[in-house]
Amino acid sequence: MNTIEKDNEYIAHTYARFPITLVRGKGAVAQDDKGKSYIDMGSGIGVTIFGYCDEEWIEAVTAQLNKIQHTSNLYYTEPGVELAQLLCEKSGMKKCFFGNSGAEANECCIKAARKYSFDKYQRNDRNVIISLKQSFHGRTLATLKATGQEAFHDIFGPFPDGFIYADANDFEGFEKLCDDKVCAVMMEIVQGEGGVIALDGDFVKKVCEFCNEHDILVIIDEVQTGNGRTGKMYAYQHYGVMPDLVSTAKGVAGGLPMGVCLFGEKTKDTFTLGSHGSTFGMNPVIAAGAVSIVKRIDDKFLSEVTKKGKYIKDRLSKCKNVKSVSGMGLMLGIETTKDAKQVAAECMNRGVLPLTAKNKIRLLPPLNIDNENLKQAMDVITAVIDE
Ligand SMILES: *Cc1c(COP(=O)(O)O)cnc(C)c1O
Repeated sequence: MNTIEKDNEYIAHTYARFPITLVRGKGAVAQDDKGKSYIDMGSGIGVTIFGYCDEEWIEAVTAQLNKIQHTSNLYYTEPGVELAQLLCEKSGMKKCFFGNSGAEANECCIKAARKYSFDKYQRNDRNVIISLKQSFHGRTLATLKATGQEAFHDIFGPFPDGFIYADANDFEGFEKLCDDKVCAVMMEIVQGEGGVIALDGDFVKKVCEFCNEHDILVIIDEVQTGNGRTGKMYAYQHYGVMPDLVSTAKGVAGGLPMGVCLFGEKTKDTFTLGSHGSTFGMNPVIAAGAVSIVKRIDDKFLSEVTKKGKYIKDRLSKCKNVKSVSGMGLMLGIETTKDAKQVAAECMNRGVLPLTAKNKIRLLPPLNIDNENLKQAMDVITAVIDE
């Protein structure tokens, strides 16, 4: 059996995979088992943000592998501490908790929000979390329920209670939902899986102001938007707001599994001994890789991300079949007159790997993609869209 046949035999069928087996990669270029090269415009869904097998990242990861690979959280380790300091400095947040995925980071935010409310108000009914329709927050039972898309709530019940949904960009509607049982709001600044839709800056600001006045915590899900993806370290920084809890994952460790919950001033001491934990969380090998990534995301780097995003938008603005382009930085959704899945498939035939989200073509290239690869990829994408 070849790999695809074996996958069909032995792997649970939860993914609609493209018929390509990727075996190696360097920078923005991946290669399949037949030796065909592809320019990567998806970076493993926003994960390999410095491309495949980045030298500095490999060096950091292998150096740590050769020192100590795991200790449990019963002992102190250096890389995670260094990473936490970097993340706090770059985000304005105060403390970190490390887990292993985006969903886990969101679970951590949910637990922290509820504990903050419980500790402060000594009530066990001030626990409701408002999330937005069309959001995506993960695949665990609680984060599925937090996901504001009805299609995710069909099976798998009973779910944890205490999640209600507001329409994005409708502040009055949001305000009406805020009774004395609400402890937090959770939102993505750019809804990724929901179709690459940036929230209105005015809505975000009003929600944050209102929540601050009423001691409702603001949780920002930066799992996809974080770590430079939108042209800022975190997408909330576009709007000058300060969340109480932030989750991030995907790109933070450059291709190894890590989820982080960042705590703001109000929530930094919410978790106490034994409140939360994770066996693999803060793994030193992964943290060392993450340090090598996060320390390179500076203002100069971010302005390049913004520039490349503008270049893509500019190229697409000249396509007759493009109906709209949404998103920020290097997180873009393209609505065309054609079927997104078909456009993606044809791009792959021609050696470019895009993603889709709902009815859009979604681009999440490595943040450090060079101009030559970016131009070649856009030549293919714009040609396929317009023919
Ligand atoms: C991908 C994603 C998640 C889930 O992350 P996992 O690592 O797959 O658990 C949560 N929120 C957002 C916004 C995401 O894009």
